[in-house]
Amino acid sequence: MAGYVPGEQPARKRLIKLNTNENPYPPSPKVLAATREAVDGRLRLYPDPAATRLRTRLAKLHQCEPENILVGNGSDELLAVCIRACVEPLRSVAATRRGAATVQYFDPSYSLYPVLAETHGARRHAVRLDTDFGLPTPGADSSGSGWEPRAALSLVTTPNAPSGRGYRTSELRRLCKATDGVVVLDEAYADFADENALDLASELRNVVILRTFSKAYSLCFQRIGYAVAHADLIAELAKVRDSYSVNGLGQVAALATLSDRAYYRESIARIRTSRDALASSLEVLGFRVLPSQTNFLFVEPPALSAEDWFKELRERRILVRWFAGQRLRRYLRITIGTDDEVAALLRAAKRILAA
Ligand SMILES: *Cc1c(COP(=O)(O)O)cnc(C)c1O
Repeated sequence: MAGYVPGEQPARKRLIKLNTNENPYPPSPKVLAATREAVDGRLRLYPDPAATRLRTRLAKLHQCEPENILVGNGSDELLAVCIRACVEPLRSVAATRRGAATVQYFDPSYSLYPVLAETHGARRHAVRLDTDFGLPTPGADSSGSGWEPRAALSLVTTPNAPSGRGYRTSELRRLCKATDGVVVLDEAYADFADENALDLASELRNVVILRTFSKAYSLCFQRIGYAVAHADLIAELAKVRDSYSVNGLGQVAALATLSDRAYYRESIARIRTSRDALASSLEVLGFRVLPSQTNFLFVEPPALSAEDWFKELRERRILVRWFAGQRLRRYLRITIGTDDEVAALLRAAKRILAA
């Protein structure tokens, strides 16, 4: 099988990293202080396997109970946990029950989904998004490549990556209601969007909302993600998680993050403002910029191929993401950086166009 290919984490310093959707701003000073303070003799102890304090705080934030929340080693772990809990390996089910072994997801979306499904021995079912990366209408496809209501697990990146497109809660509700199996709404970028679908986790028993501290909360390094869902579903997911997957310093950092929400509101607002400004500047240079509800832009560059743009920018020490797939190869995905990084990107783009 082909493994997941993460964005490059270069050893070379002084590269401008606009390739993995990390937050360009550091965690709040309070988070750094709390983390430092926790580094002492207690490192010899196992961390709280249930992340009780963090779950309690998250429950308060989302107006639910701690029983509605499961914390994981990044949302990546929780995606694997959902597959393990909900999907049977294909070899163990009869042909008439292949829905029970199916992991369904949209194409394009997060490229980890098919890798996790294959690792589990599940059947993969990719459903093509519309031309503008919009959701197809459930039931509108009779070719066999449409949405399958019987899929044991469906994974939906919302807002979508890599396109950056947002979806209305009303259309997600319709999709979840039309599906018998569990639907994971992977909201890694929801903090940058105008709308999120968190309410569906309390409204519908088959919906799991996945959130992460990696993107909006500058905490990729610490690996903290969480799921919000009906308590019965959370209890099943918790059974197949590794007890100590969530490290203690990560729990400390995430708790401190939730105590300094004003800091993050400001950095999220700053990223949204830079995103919209960068979109306008790139459009002036002839880029086609797709509307974004995330902390990155998906753009179709002018003059050169997207692959050549990727190489030219790399020569100039700017890393962006380019995907070789048939449908994506015309585009670049550019993470929103600091003002200086964005200015350097625009300078480089002008030079490339003038060359
Ligand atoms: C970044 C990302 C994740 C992974 O988040 P972690 O919490 O760092 O594991 C999951 N889903 C999507 C769509 C992402 O972009």
